[in-house]
Amino acid sequence: MDTTNAALTGTVALVTGASSGIGEGIARGLAQDGATLVLVARRIDRLKALADDLAATGATALVAEADVADPAQAARAVDRAVSELGRLDIVVNNAGLMLPGPLAEAPEGEWQHMLSVNVSGVLNTTRAALPHLKQAAASDPRRVADLITIGSTAGRIARPDTAVYSLTKFGVGALSESLRQELIPDRVRVGIVHPGAVETEIGNHIRDGVREHLLAQATAINRLQPSDVADAVRYMVTRDRRVAVNEILVRAGEQTW
Ligand code: NDP
Repeated sequence: MDTTNAALTGTVALVTGASSGIGEGIARGLAQDGATLVLVARRIDRLKALADDLAATGATALVAEADVADPAQAARAVDRAVSELGRLDIVVNNAGLMLPGPLAEAPEGEWQHMLSVNVSGVLNTTRAALPHLKQAAASDPRRVADLITIGSTAGRIARPDTAVYSLTKFGVGALSESLRQELIPDRVRVGIVHPGAVETEIGNHIRDGVREHLLAQATAINRLQPSDVADAVRYMVTRDRRVAVNEILVRAGEQTW
C-alpha cells in the first residue's frame, strides 16, 4: 500500500483497545490513511498479530501493552509512543466494556470495572497524551492534533439495564465537550464518535443469564462492522485544520434505539 501522499502520512496515532473490535478497525483504517500506529491493550498476542498484519501492508505499528485503568501503565504507553516514534498526533480513547443487567443485581465489582476502564482509562490516557498532542499541533505536517473518544448511543439515550454503562458514556461526552472548549487555543481538536450496535467481542464479557436476553435485540439486526465506526474517526481526523467535526452518531440502519 503506497501511503506517501495519504492524509496522515508523517503522523503518529495511538489507539487504546486495539486488540479487537472497533479499536482494531480504527487502527487498520488510520494505517490506510498513512499514520504510524501505537497499539494499546492488555492482550499482547492480539496486538502483535495486528502489528504483523499492518507491517505486511507497509504500515508501521508499535505494540504497547497496557491496562489503561492503571495511570502508570497508560502513561508508559504514551511515553513509549513519543520516545520511540518521536511524536503523538492522534489519540483514540476506545478501550471500554459494557457489563449490563438490572442495577440492583450487579455483582460486586462490575460497576467499578466499567468506571475504571470507560472513565478512568480515558482520563489516564488523556492526561498523559495532552502535552504531546499540544506539541504535535504546533508543528508540521498538520499543525493540528486530535483527541477522539468512542462514546455510544448509550451516552445519548439511557435505557434500562445499562445504567452504569450509560453513566460512563454520558460522562465521557461531558468530558469531551469541556475539553473541546479548553483546547481550542492549542489546536487540539476534541471529538466523540457514538456507535450504535457493532459486531465485536463486547458481548463476550457479559455474564450468563444476562447475555442472551440483552444481546437478542442487537443480534436481530444487521449490525455495524468495526470499519464503519473507523470511517467516522477517519473522517474527523483527516479534515483540514480549519474544520472541527466534534461529534458523529453512527447507528446500524435497522436500529430503533
Ligand atoms: P471489544 O470487547 O471487541 O473491544 C474492547 C477493547 O478494549 C479490547 O481491545 C480490549 O483489549 C480493550 N480493553 C478493555 N479493558 C481494557 C483495559 N483495562 N486496558 C486496556 N484495554 C482494555 O468491544 P468493542 O470493540 O465493541 O468496544 C470498543 C469500544 O466501543 C468500547 O468503548 C465500547 O463501549 C464502545 N462501543 C461498542 C459498541 C458495540 O456495539 N460493540 C457500541 C457503542 C460503543 P484487551 O482485553 O486486550 O485489554
